[in-house]
Amino acid sequence: MSLDVAAIRDQFPILKREIDGKPLIYLDNAATTQKPQCVIDALVEYYSHYNSNVHRGAHRLADEATRKFEGARDIIQHFINAPKREEVIWTSGTTEAINIVAHGLTSLLSNNDEVIVTGMEHHANIVTWQQACKASGATLYIVPVTDSGELDLDVYVSLLSERTKMVALPHVSNSLGTVNPIKWVTQKAKQFDAWVLVDGAQGIAHGNVDVQDIGCDFYAFSGHKIYGPMGIGVLWGKESLLSQWPVWQTGGEMIATVSLQDATWNVLPYRLEAGTPNVGDAIALGEAIRWFSALDSAAVQAHEEALIARATELAEGFEGLRVIGTAPQKIGAFSFVFEGGHPADIGFLLDKQGVAVRTGDHCAQPLMARFGVPGTARMSFSIYNTLEEVDAAFDALKKVHMMLA
Ligand code: PMP
Repeated sequence: MSLDVAAIRDQFPILKREIDGKPLIYLDNAATTQKPQCVIDALVEYYSHYNSNVHRGAHRLADEATRKFEGARDIIQHFINAPKREEVIWTSGTTEAINIVAHGLTSLLSNNDEVIVTGMEHHANIVTWQQACKASGATLYIVPVTDSGELDLDVYVSLLSERTKMVALPHVSNSLGTVNPIKWVTQKAKQFDAWVLVDGAQGIAHGNVDVQDIGCDFYAFSGHKIYGPMGIGVLWGKESLLSQWPVWQTGGEMIATVSLQDATWNVLPYRLEAGTPNVGDAIALGEAIRWFSALDSAAVQAHEEALIARATELAEGFEGLRVIGTAPQKIGAFSFVFEGGHPADIGFLLDKQGVAVRTGDHCAQPLMARFGVPGTARMSFSIYNTLEEVDAAFDALKKVHMMLA
């Protein structure tokens, strides 16, 4: 079955926008995806009809909000095939989710321990571990990236040992689009009983994420990368770990009992969710995932692969354009540079033609250094993009190339 892209596009009001009289071609989906009407409606409905704090209210609105909020947790649980709903922790996004794990790990590490990350991390998944290692005396190792933008798996295997406590890596690179073999990486790490955290910020919207099949210990993602609102995300972790994990923030909701001198912690998921949660956005994320799950996932994947394939094909005949990241397994992001053209100029001149891309280091400075570029221009695709849009973006790019030549 193929994806009815026209019907999907109809559900996204923002895609009807024009930029200086030209139709918007939105190719910045790795930064954030647009929202379908049902997600916007879920937010409006929450604030218009049942806005209330959750769990503690003795009234109708609190009851409705609590049921919807906890129902959204169930939707996430099923979407990622988590064994238990208590393992789904609401966070503000991927960044906070990784910080919860890294912050807790800091007190579990000693100076004999090692943490492994990769050379293609978003800053959220490298700075965090740098800090954990600095504070604990553990050593941080980096899996290098090959010329095609893939992980050097031989080096990875050689870095693993009994001292490895944590392996953290992205499911999909936000800069290059490389899809990493996370299941294989996890299996290798498990031979040494290391924990594995997958940064799923870019993986969540592009395929079937099944945390049990991957076998990882933690999977982190942001709602806004999967058609939901900003300010909400998820940390999934195995119950056996999360129920013992050193607590993150302290305050209301996460406690069981409090005396003047001490406190005890609540059960999962609440022990890692201090304070009033982001109720409306959690409910709207549940709606986004309900909406996305109703699509045929094979058709979603096939369409996204077709978009990347078209960009790759058009780039091949484009003199002076260098693609950064040529892995055979790529999804979502397509990065490139021009000889003699600064990425920021490319972005500016594409915007004038209605084409929205991202330029810069994509929060991955070590990766840019690896490829010897200050940054790239990045087209990133989503289910509502069409092959015609990819063609039009490359036509616009040709004009930019001439202007910069
Ligand atoms: N990791 C990756 C791979 C990302 O692409 C992003 C967002 N660009 C993040 C982490 C951080 O996500 P957020 O800013 O939503 O917390």
